[in-house]
Amino acid sequence: MTPHKKELRRDPEYLTPIYRMALEQFGQAADQLSLDPNVRKRFTDPKRAIMVNIPIRLDDASVEVFHGYRVHHDTTLGPSKGGIRYHPDVNLGECSALAMWMTWKCALMGLPFGGAKGGIRCDPHALSRNELQRLTRRFTAELIQFIGPEVDVPAPDVGTNGQIMAWMMDTYSQFKGYPVPEIVTGKPIAIGGSLGRTEATGRGVVFCIMEAFAHLKMQPKDKKIVVQGFGNVGAHASAILQAEGCKVIAVSDVKSGLVNKKGIDIPALMKHLETNDYIESFQGGERITNAELLELPCDVLVPAALSEQITDENANRISCKILAEAANGPTTPKADKILRERGVFVIPDILANAGGVTVSYFEWVQGLQNLFWKEQEINDRLKDIMCNAFRAVLSLSISEKVDMRLAALMLSIRKITTAKKARGLFP
Ligand code: GLU
Repeated sequence: MTPHKKELRRDPEYLTPIYRMALEQFGQAADQLSLDPNVRKRFTDPKRAIMVNIPIRLDDASVEVFHGYRVHHDTTLGPSKGGIRYHPDVNLGECSALAMWMTWKCALMGLPFGGAKGGIRCDPHALSRNELQRLTRRFTAELIQFIGPEVDVPAPDVGTNGQIMAWMMDTYSQFKGYPVPEIVTGKPIAIGGSLGRTEATGRGVVFCIMEAFAHLKMQPKDKKIVVQGFGNVGAHASAILQAEGCKVIAVSDVKSGLVNKKGIDIPALMKHLETNDYIESFQGGERITNAELLELPCDVLVPAALSEQITDENANRISCKILAEAANGPTTPKADKILRERGVFVIPDILANAGGVTVSYFEWVQGLQNLFWKEQEINDRLKDIMCNAFRAVLSLSISEKVDMRLAALMLSIRKITTAKKARGLFP
């Protein structure tokens, strides 16, 4: 073998455990579809991955350099789309896996987008507001060649929010010389954000849970819900589930969990968190750890935090009927197998949490057209897209005798493959 070929056989830098997990899921679906090997190769690696070093001046006048990433996995169906994550564990492999999941998610929902994800390895809680602003603006400037309303459209993810999007939008607009609100989604209403976007991911999770209840002949009333993670997604999903008559018996954040068999007062907890950083200081239940919370007997478990929470180590002790994956990648393939054998009904991440990017799509369309929709119209359209996607996945899972994750992946991969074949391979 020539040295050149040997070199080619080395693993790419993004082939980390989480990327291998995304690849394993893809591989199972590709096998099930007997996917053309030439197409399979093209999905295996991200289209492009940008790594930037971001120098900023901290408040004490010293300079710190942060590592930032943006990965575009696929752009067959349209500009790439996906969130920006600020977290100490952000790395190239994680962004690449999350970008691949965005590709499947957008295709499954029928959105004209490819998949992307990015982020900065940092602890956003340890940075001041001014430091965060400088970090966000310099990151945006470093990515300026690789983002744009027709190129790649960022959105919030773990550790980022509407304010971060507003700074990204302003920085991009300064470079262009005119306002470009459609460069990001999940931005504040005042600069062209969409009504309903903040609640959208949580709302979409609830639409899926209601569909699963109907399929399993369960009534929402008093169903016991456990939610891991009380960020934007977990908090809104909890509030909407409670409004639907369910009983949220446990929630958690990075520090600790809270359990109350009678049901936690979610609006009171949300109010409490407006002025307090953590659930810990809220009275209204008993403390438990995040690990204990995942194993509480319940009807629906909603992991709404980070990836790889349900593994072969704890999957045997998970005791829910429905697992609604509000987070991206919360269940490892080994755990998936155990849950399948134990008869847990899994609503996979690319379906369950797709409400966020769906309303991001609405926001992008509204921005491009300068025509804004009423909140009711947004929620109705979201419901329509989510429930149709759920039913399509369920029906394929029944007809092909595969689980919901495999069915969802198969539907997405099939759609993009048809498009890839129609476009052909350049040159
Ligand atoms: N970060 C969210 C996700 O993982 C939203 C992405 C978007 O709206 O573009 O789906």
